[in-house]
Amino acid sequence: LRRNPGEAEFHQAVREVFDSLGPVLAKHPRYVDAGVLERLCEPERQIIFRVPWVDDAGAVHINRGFRVEFNSALGPFKGGLRFHPSVYLGTVKFLGFEQVFKNSLTGMPLGGAKGGSDFDPRGRTDAEVMRFCQSFMTELYRHIGEYTDVPAGDIGVGGREIGYLFGQYKRITNRYESGVLTGKGISWGGSLVRTEATGYGTVLFAERMLATRGRSFDGARVAVSGSGNVAVHAITKAQSLGAQVVAFSDSSGFVVDPSGVDVELLRRIKEVDRGRVADYADARPDARFVSDGRIWDVPVDVALPCATQNELTGADAARLVANGVVAVAEGANMPTTPDAVAAFAAAGVLFAPGKAANAGGVATSALEMQQNASRDAWTFDYTEERLAAIMAAIHDRCLDTAEEYGAPGSYVLGANIAGFTKVADAMIALGVV
Ligand code: NDP
Repeated sequence: LRRNPGEAEFHQAVREVFDSLGPVLAKHPRYVDAGVLERLCEPERQIIFRVPWVDDAGAVHINRGFRVEFNSALGPFKGGLRFHPSVYLGTVKFLGFEQVFKNSLTGMPLGGAKGGSDFDPRGRTDAEVMRFCQSFMTELYRHIGEYTDVPAGDIGVGGREIGYLFGQYKRITNRYESGVLTGKGISWGGSLVRTEATGYGTVLFAERMLATRGRSFDGARVAVSGSGNVAVHAITKAQSLGAQVVAFSDSSGFVVDPSGVDVELLRRIKEVDRGRVADYADARPDARFVSDGRIWDVPVDVALPCATQNELTGADAARLVANGVVAVAEGANMPTTPDAVAAFAAAGVLFAPGKAANAGGVATSALEMQQNASRDAWTFDYTEERLAAIMAAIHDRCLDTAEEYGAPGSYVLGANIAGFTKVADAMIALGVV
């Protein structure tokens, strides 16, 4: 705490992982002896830089850019970039710390990192976003590379931003180094299924988790918070498995659509018009927009928080439990506050932490890197099969690990210990570095 003052989300993320590690440290004291815990908390490298850019009216803006390279014991640093006005060092460090364990859980050779900026892309023209991305990459390029650090998207960074970032990287380095970024467009080195992967993967994980109780998405009522990349594809997958998604949101409020989401309409509003969820309610007679309530008050069987950190509180959890929720799976990173996680555990609600449930995105980024390395392009079906197999393996690894360490059914403990042991063993093997 003294070394990292004021980084509340980072402290929360570290506490959440370390709270699970008691049983594994008791069984294997070598992790303590080798200083693994201290080393895990200290990023290998933190880069903070100025991002100057000029808006369409000619005004100069200065934003702050970050890249926190947390741990590269398992492979090159890997993790997304977030562009949102709330971003500060504590956000990037919490996300980077989580990423280390998530990437370990995927079973792929990936280290963990995260980056971003306090730049707000909302309301900015394409030309302004391009100039910002070019300025951001003009510093970032010297720190990244296929074998060094491979960024991707996150909140506020989608296909458009990755395109501008990749274009500037290519221009500065004079190298068509496809493996330097993931989430690229399909015609220039991207992978099919990458866009859908986080949302699809979260639902596939939840489906397998529901099966442990003899339940499924078929006929289930579902609420999905957010309406961005992860949320839209979670909605699509859940409905394709027979669920009715009755609520979704953005930062201005939520929409209740009792007959299930019209995904085509939502995608047009969000991805083509870059509109708000209120526009969806305007276009659908049965749907209503709520600006002053909580999405988690809507009675559902399954809740999928897919927007941002700490968006599902203890009070929300109490309401979901009272309304009979069966399962909660985190599509976002750390969306559930610690008291809400405890409330779900106490009520016997199935709960999948983000580092397991939303790992499909980064796992498919690793598949994109495989295709780039072999100059290959896989079909949608083949790539989705690979994603499904990876999600099933992560699910089972969490359950088996929870069982092994005396907490059957605790996906939180299973994910944290399974993620930890793989990276900790690699750190010990590589020596004190
Ligand atoms: P997007 O930018 O595409 O969408 C984010 C959504 O969340 C938007 O609907 C946004 O609403 C909402 N949101 C963001 N911040 C807030 C806030 N402070 N309060 C309320 N709502 C908010 O991002 P993604 O879908 O890519 O990411 C969503 C979550 O999933 C994040 O936690 C991210 O870290 C995580 N994740 C993403 C992965 C990916 O592959 N993209 C991989 C793994 C995890 P508004 O438009 O109003 O801001």
